[in-house]
Amino acid sequence: MDNKKDYQADRRRFLVSMGVAGAATLAGPSLSAMVNEGEVEWGEDHEIVVIGSGFTGLAAAIEAHKLGATDIVVYDMMPYFGGNSTYNGGLFAVPDSPLQKENGIEDSPERMTADQVLAGRGLAYQDLLLHVASHANEALQMTLDAGTEYLPYLQQLGGHSVPRTYQTIEACGAGIIRPLVEQCRKLGIKLVTRAKFKRLIFNKEGTVEGAEIAMGYYFGRDVDGTPVNVRSKRGLLIATGGFARNVGLRSAQDPTLTEEVPSTNPPSATGEALLEMFRVGAVPVHMAYIQTGPWASPDEDGFGYVSNYSIYNFAHSVSINVRTGKRFMNEIADRKTRSDAQLALRNDDGSPLPPITITSFEDAKEHPTMEKVLKYKVGWKFDTLEELTAHFNVPLEPLKAQIEEYNGYVKSGMDEQFGKPMGKAEGKYIRAPFVVVRNWPKVHYCQGGAQIDVHARVIGSDNWQPIPGLYAGGEVTGGMHGVSRLGSCSIPDCMVMGMTAARTMMKS
Ligand SMILES: Cc1cc2nc3c(=O)[nH]c(=O)nc-3n(C[C@H](O)[C@H](O)[C@H](O)COP(=O)(O)OP(=O)(O)OC[C@H]3O[C@@H](n4cnc5c(N)ncnc54)[C@H](O)[C@@H]3O)c2cc1C
Repeated sequence: MDNKKDYQADRRRFLVSMGVAGAATLAGPSLSAMVNEGEVEWGEDHEIVVIGSGFTGLAAAIEAHKLGATDIVVYDMMPYFGGNSTYNGGLFAVPDSPLQKENGIEDSPERMTADQVLAGRGLAYQDLLLHVASHANEALQMTLDAGTEYLPYLQQLGGHSVPRTYQTIEACGAGIIRPLVEQCRKLGIKLVTRAKFKRLIFNKEGTVEGAEIAMGYYFGRDVDGTPVNVRSKRGLLIATGGFARNVGLRSAQDPTLTEEVPSTNPPSATGEALLEMFRVGAVPVHMAYIQTGPWASPDEDGFGYVSNYSIYNFAHSVSINVRTGKRFMNEIADRKTRSDAQLALRNDDGSPLPPITITSFEDAKEHPTMEKVLKYKVGWKFDTLEELTAHFNVPLEPLKAQIEEYNGYVKSGMDEQFGKPMGKAEGKYIRAPFVVVRNWPKVHYCQGGAQIDVHARVIGSDNWQPIPGLYAGGEVTGGMHGVSRLGSCSIPDCMVMGMTAARTMMKS
């Protein structure tokens, strides 16, 4: 049976029954339009079907196996696994973690949630945040069980009120994805690449029963693949990530995010599966909240080396407006606050004026990325302030005075200029030799997506109830982070909601 033809026929019948002239007048298609009449020819049949092999998808698959599922399959449209999660910086926020306990740092899921609500400008979904924060330790344990290794210290990222962020020893999400993929293989979970999810298939009762998957698809080449209808006994999990690389979709939400604005994301962040969920009636949430990363560099492509370098070093560095030689922001404010402050720095003709971030070599060398930053010439080392100011054309005297003033805040523990929390800057004075990078924001994360509940069920706009059989987690969903996501909070979000989806599916 030709599903495409059937869907179009169904949709035509639906539109006629609604008495509307065309799809444009319809706010969103009703579930009733999506029901497949007659017999669907199933090419594959599984217990659990997951679309997307990032943190969300792999955590779901492993958790489903733990709960007794024996036939689990994960499809990914790319020739490799892991999507954004592989490119990721490996920074993982966990409240009440073993490392916090070892270091006497007091924290709680409620405290992490409060930090996130503040960054989300009050629009974050607190129930989801608290759910994730309360289960983050379980997600951390899943990665440790799989063999992930973390640096022996915690970092305090922008907007977090305490140090609570682990980082993989590779300073990369691949340090989590690789062990999870190996774990899946050991457990007999099927992992299939070049398999692109095209559309959902509903049964007559309006329950998602499966999906059309294009097998043998090749991204970026003219290879569409062969459509196969895949059935899933316990429903379908969409874990396909964000849409930062879909310029049409992101600029429709935020017209400033044109093709000219670079992104840290890999090309797989297309958002097509999200659009399919909207097509069947999922509720769009916060689609215009698209985050730019204030630690990115205009001197390299994508996330590069400077991002992780800056994330680590911002806490004990100064960011300087090269025109004035003065600081212009709290270097560890939340991402939106910092990106907005950076984007406001302009030359007279309106062109971008990237600020510089200055760190003492002595402190910068503590993070593994410094060597790469210097090696690939996306950061520079200077022995004196004179050399530094000549290189970046910064006024020397104001910068000297600024550094002296800031070092006073390091001593007193109080930043009187921008209120930066100085705990992680203790004893870390800005002094020669210096390491300097330039920063400029890049499109990084989509806060918007499909609405879900704390059971990872996708909510339908028909009746504001879960769409039966449809689950989602991770960056494809919206609402959790509100206006701005705090750094290192996507890994817990993705992993916990993946695990949650598995728990819900296994009860079905
Ligand atoms: C460079 C970078 C660094 C980051 N660093 C951090 C960090 O340190 N800490 C943190 O918490 N967050 C970080 N983030 C954010 C975080 O990595 C992402 O939000 C997270 O990885 C998203 O995971 P996911 O499981 O939702 O989707 P992804 O990891 O993006 O996986 C989705 C998968 O779905 C596949 N897919 C998409 N569409 C289809 C389709 N139609 N059919 C089949 N497959 C499909 C993709 O190929 C992809 O493999 C970073 C993001 C980037 C880009």
